[in-house]
Amino acid sequence: MSADNERRDEMEHRTEQLFTHARAAKGFMPDDEGTALFHAARRAGSDHPTTGTFVEVGAWCGKSTVYLGAAAEATGALLFSIDHHHGSEENQPGWEHHDDEVVDRATGRIDTLPFWRRTIDAAGLGGSVVGVVGNSTAIASHWQTPLDLCFIDGGHGDEPAWADFRGWAPHVAVGRWLAIHDVFPNPADGGRPPYELWCAALASGEFVEDGECGSLRVLRRVGPPTEVR
Ligand code: SAH
Ligand code: MG
Repeated sequence: MSADNERRDEMEHRTEQLFTHARAAKGFMPDDEGTALFHAARRAGSDHPTTGTFVEVGAWCGKSTVYLGAAAEATGALLFSIDHHHGSEENQPGWEHHDDEVVDRATGRIDTLPFWRRTIDAAGLGGSVVGVVGNSTAIASHWQTPLDLCFIDGGHGDEPAWADFRGWAPHVAVGRWLAIHDVFPNPADGGRPPYELWCAALASGEFVEDGECGSLRVLRRVGPPTEVR
């Protein structure tokens, strides 16, 4: 076997190993969508003159982080995984996506950071993934680095979803990618805000459709962001 083939086999093996970690992690990312996210991110990280920069908004216990981190590792990119780790409205007790196991007994609050860290360490992705703990809107307002890929999967209520879109979409560089999760064209399948963001991105003329899988939508920026949003 040639050295090139051997290297390719090793990389495929590592990717498969990482997918196994992603599947085992708690979270809200079906495997086919995670795989599609990986491919979108790998494309975004490839052919980069320096180091690709990815941002994930909404990490929870690190499931999507591992799919994205696998692409970061494969392309030498760096993934900033953002979450305050206290859960969205829809994760709180009494809501549909609550998981009692992630409640910190000492504080009574959701804390997914220990779970996220365990996922990343088990996957061995510490060299390609940086956890950023805090409010995504605050972080977006201080962010400077142009993004090769931004994955929005934070709070799905009206206010947090639009804040993430307004805060993060402008950071996607021209020619690079924005991915949005939980886009449901049919209201019977899920909440409206992520779908509305996707519609707004297309209506702005700044983005074009560039792939989808399940509720994952991938967009490519074709024009610069407008000043007033
Ligand atoms: N991508 C994850 C699921 C994310 S769930 C997966 O693959 O499983 C949504 C996450 O967004 C929650 O962990 C919640 O804490 C986070 N979140 C919601 N609003 C936020 C905000 N304003 N700032 C930072 N994180 C936020
Ligand atoms: Mg989601």
